[in-house]
Amino acid sequence: MYDVIIIGAGVIGGMIARELSKYKVSTALLEKENDVARGATGANSGIVHAGFDAKEGSLKAKMNVLGCSLMEDIAKTLGVHYRKNGSIVVAFDEEQDATVKALYERGVKNGVPELRILTGDEAMEIEPKLSKNITSALLAPTAGIICPYSLAIASIGCAMDNGASLFTNCEVCGIEKTKDGYKVTAKDGRAFESRFVVNCAGLYSDKIADLAGKGGFKVHPRSGEYMLCDKDAGELVNLTVFKVPTKMGKGILVSPTADGNLILGPTSTDIEDKEDRRTTEEGLEQIVRGVNESVDDVPLRAVITSFTGLRSVGSTGDFIINESEGFVNCGGVESPGLTSSPAIAIYVRNLLIGAGMEPDLKEDWNPGRKIFKAEPKKYGRIICRCETISEGEIISAIHTNPPAKDIDGVKKRTRSGMGRCQGGFCQPFVAEIIARELSLDLLQVTKSGLGSELLTGRTKEV
Ligand SMILES: Cc1cc2nc3c(=O)[nH]c(=O)nc-3n(C[C@H](O)[C@H](O)[C@H](O)COP(=O)(O)OP(=O)(O)OC[C@H]3O[C@@H](n4cnc5c(N)ncnc54)[C@H](O)[C@@H]3O)c2cc1C
Repeated sequence: MYDVIIIGAGVIGGMIARELSKYKVSTALLEKENDVARGATGANSGIVHAGFDAKEGSLKAKMNVLGCSLMEDIAKTLGVHYRKNGSIVVAFDEEQDATVKALYERGVKNGVPELRILTGDEAMEIEPKLSKNITSALLAPTAGIICPYSLAIASIGCAMDNGASLFTNCEVCGIEKTKDGYKVTAKDGRAFESRFVVNCAGLYSDKIADLAGKGGFKVHPRSGEYMLCDKDAGELVNLTVFKVPTKMGKGILVSPTADGNLILGPTSTDIEDKEDRRTTEEGLEQIVRGVNESVDDVPLRAVITSFTGLRSVGSTGDFIINESEGFVNCGGVESPGLTSSPAIAIYVRNLLIGAGMEPDLKEDWNPGRKIFKAEPKKYGRIICRCETISEGEIISAIHTNPPAKDIDGVKKRTRSGMGRCQGGFCQPFVAEIIARELSLDLLQVTKSGLGSELLTGRTKEV
């Protein structure tokens, strides 16, 4: 019997697990995939938003502004790449100038510090590659960039080091109310009991809420396609450059990433299928048109990959975070969910304490992570040439909480395979290291869990 079961190991489940690991409560984190951070957390813009977008008074606005103010410190403690680079929203005509002014006023009401409206010339002075057609801009110096999946991985690692248990390949398909709390059943038959349940299942949070009889909301997928440029292009702009938002979202941006690449996108298209992560010709064309309008000389020849993330758009227009009988929903956590995650963790902790969780703190809580150290000589063998990642770093990723078990898991923890050749050179070596470290046959090594085996059979027996 656990005190708390968290369903879904994205950044929201992860940050809540870390927050709860400060207390004398036992926590289990159940995740349907082979690894953590495989949902929206693994494919988004990675922007720590300042907090002027969300409607004043909304939970989104409150969580965003608080989350933004907490992020720098948390990232530093967890060793996650973060940079307070600031953001700018650019306008191209009088109507958009009015939107910039409205965003400024909303930001001030939301409590966003240091916001400034700039003329087109002032904007060009601080960001020379901006289009000459800009008429005004909103500068938000408190915005930042962070590696989103690293934040989730590190927060889950911290929670595990402090006693939380992670169960992967554990798809929740049943939730029953019991005398003392809840019984949660997974598709493979495993059963878990707890006093409290926290639903952080992203796109499936509506389904999980329905299983527990705590639903009443819907979540639909809105796809966002991206193009990612090589690190050579990472310094084209310093600020995150947004266009003025529309009712479909914050629009197509041009931004450096926390790891030094340049990210272009996302598109914003409502779709039906919660698993449809295709990139499309129309989507990529839309990105090209969008970025060329706001920034000059975007080096499209430097694009090394494209990908799609799916937003969890909730039916209420706000984050759906509520508690009833010890069951907490975190549904509809679309953007700025990443930014809000530290604040949501505190909010959910307070809901659980309100529902009866004992607020006794551990004396020996470690806010950071324990990193496994490989033999020193392993750090001298470079496996990923593009990103200069050593065998030692890969071994460390496989043995540090939460352990990497597949190629994508190693990639997201070390960046091996994230460079210009996209794993063309290093992938076979990474597969060999995974097989050796986890005592697997090479044929059992997967890209991202069962069904994605890299090799189909042997061509030569030795
Ligand atoms: C295109 C795009 C751009 C974005 N840009 C930004 C940004 O710049 N800044 C920002 O602040 N936010 C941004 N966001 C929002 C941010 O990414 C999300 O708010 C955040 O990642 C949500 O985290 P989560 O943990 O709720 O969801 P997820 O990361 O989706 O995690 C949910 C987890 O639940 C698991 N799960 C689902 N069903 C089950 C089940 N039955 N049993 C067990 N596990 C289950 C899933 O496998 C998944 O791992 C963006 C999102 C998208 C898609």
